[in-house]
Amino acid sequence: MFSRHTIVNAGYRSTNYWVVSAGKSRFLVDIGWPGTMPAMRANLSRIGVPLDEFRYALATHYHIDHAGLGQEFKNAGVPLLVLESQVAAIPRMKNHVKPADKYLEITTNGNTIIRFAESRSLLASLGLSGEILATPGHSDDSVSVLLDDGSVFTGDLPPVALAGENAAVAESWRVLREHGATRIYPGHGPIRPLTA
Ligand SMILES: [Zn+2]
Repeated sequence: MFSRHTIVNAGYRSTNYWVVSAGKSRFLVDIGWPGTMPAMRANLSRIGVPLDEFRYALATHYHIDHAGLGQEFKNAGVPLLVLESQVAAIPRMKNHVKPADKYLEITTNGNTIIRFAESRSLLASLGLSGEILATPGHSDDSVSVLLDDGSVFTGDLPPVALAGENAAVAESWRVLREHGATRIYPGHGPIRPLTA
């Protein structure tokens, strides 16, 4: 039913932007630093991914290194996929940028807002087998995309060893493990196994 997906990193400036593809049906996980659309376009071009093949872009959470180009992607025709737990975080983005960042504010217009329970059917419509789970800890609005082969895009969910008193982090990892996650595609740094 599902063709095998591919995962390619279009990242720059120490941040990973994952292009998940089922054939030419593309899904972008994390959406660039503010004001860096030329760098993003250059990287997508280098890896042979036309911008107009993206069906959706998703931010694992609304911090500027992960969602900075959300509006630019919308303006280029790529809808922004927003989970129910992320809606309130979007307008707060502008509080964390300086004018020099050239952040184009993400409007409420045209965003595709879904419940977690709807995520499996949405991903299936892209040819991807998986789901999107709430994984708070780094921030309340953090989500992870978990594919059924165990690949999981975790944004900035910190390793448990670095979580300190933050119980939400351990709980989020427990949920991911319980749902079959085995290979972590983080927002920063290399791909790594999820050890039990
Ligand atoms: Zn980050």
